[in-house]
Amino acid sequence: MLRIGLTGGMGAGKSTVARALADLGAVVIDSDLIAREVVAPGTEGLAALVAAFGADIVGADGALDRPALAARAFGDDQARAKLNAITHPLVGKRTAELIAAAPSDAIVVQDIPLLVENGLAPLMNLVVVVEVDSETRIRRLVEFRGVAEADARARIAKQATDDQRRAVADVLLDNSGAPGEVEAAVGRLWERRLTAFEHNLRTGTPARLHGEIRVVPPDLEWPAQAQRLIARLWAACGSAASRIDHIGSTSVPGLPAKDVIDLQITVSDLDAADCLRDALGAAGFPCRPDVTHDDPVPLPGSTGIDTTVWSKRFHQSADPGRLANVHVRVADSPGQQYALLFRDWLRAEPAVCAEYLAVKRAGEAEAGAAAGADALEAYLTVKRPWFSAAYPRALAWRDR
Ligand code: ADP
Repeated sequence: MLRIGLTGGMGAGKSTVARALADLGAVVIDSDLIAREVVAPGTEGLAALVAAFGADIVGADGALDRPALAARAFGDDQARAKLNAITHPLVGKRTAELIAAAPSDAIVVQDIPLLVENGLAPLMNLVVVVEVDSETRIRRLVEFRGVAEADARARIAKQATDDQRRAVADVLLDNSGAPGEVEAAVGRLWERRLTAFEHNLRTGTPARLHGEIRVVPPDLEWPAQAQRLIARLWAACGSAASRIDHIGSTSVPGLPAKDVIDLQITVSDLDAADCLRDALGAAGFPCRPDVTHDDPVPLPGSTGIDTTVWSKRFHQSADPGRLANVHVRVADSPGQQYALLFRDWLRAEPAVCAEYLAVKRAGEAEAGAAAGADALEAYLTVKRPWFSAAYPRALAWRDR
């Protein structure tokens, strides 16, 4: 099951996008609807609200009188906390029930207006944000939904900002165009990304780089993309990880790289790494059981190579729209240390970056000459010796 979080500011077009996704076959879970259901007449939710706030929050028709409740609960932090303590667990329970009822191959879309405000982004496999500038949103709310302008402005001012929403957006859907355009974009997203992501997730298949190995110009979005993945990894790992870092070329500002984000989860031992296997898979990062260690690099002062100290677990993103490698390494093991050291060294030394880039370019050329499945191996054959030789240099840099 693929879990997608859908959000956007009021009037941006979440409902429009949710409808388009439902038409394509997604199971849509509407959090506003659930929030109303759990306090409908006759529910334990409504009874709990009456016990907390008094019988006069219920209207003559037996339904919750929202303005009356708002008058009690808003503007007073303690009362609002009490309200949330009653409703949030009920909404959570009902949401969990609906998710559990969805088929195992479902693409579940959770339409959550307050996804950012409630910190829910890391729990999703992918976050889709619908975006339109606030003046257009206000105009649409007034024109098509009959909301009073002052009301629309006041409510929008209380929500997360566009920047805060953009920070969690794996996919940003611009809905400033003509009606129908965003639906077409949703169709493309479904075709090109969501169905493949769902298939990969369900079958434990990492997404692959298609076509040739290409070193691309640095993308200014890489660090933000890495942070979104890291938040997701933290949600999956909890206290089993002691740190999670963006490593590799995409973590070095200005360095061209393959468009694959490398991340490192640091754990106490390999058993802890194995225990994370299923949680990481469900989060969108299936395990590659065939990869069990790094290429050993000769350690200064030691003769021979001890491969066991280079053991790791390796996962890759199932999302064809955002390739990522997740290395799970043991704290203070040489591989874990080298990944961090190498990144810091490259960040600090432009000359080393240039040298490394030249090696990558040579690898890219070799990969281009080799065909298909051999391309990555050809690329690595060029990179490996330089990487090994760089290790003592990086250590010397650290010691200086
Ligand atoms: P949300 O669910 O995010 O609050 P809606 O999907 O209800 O937003 O959209 C707000 C209003 O704008 C609706 O009346 C909707 O029909 C309309 N709308 C959505 N997309 C467009 C668009 N591209 N152009 C014009 N109106 C739109």
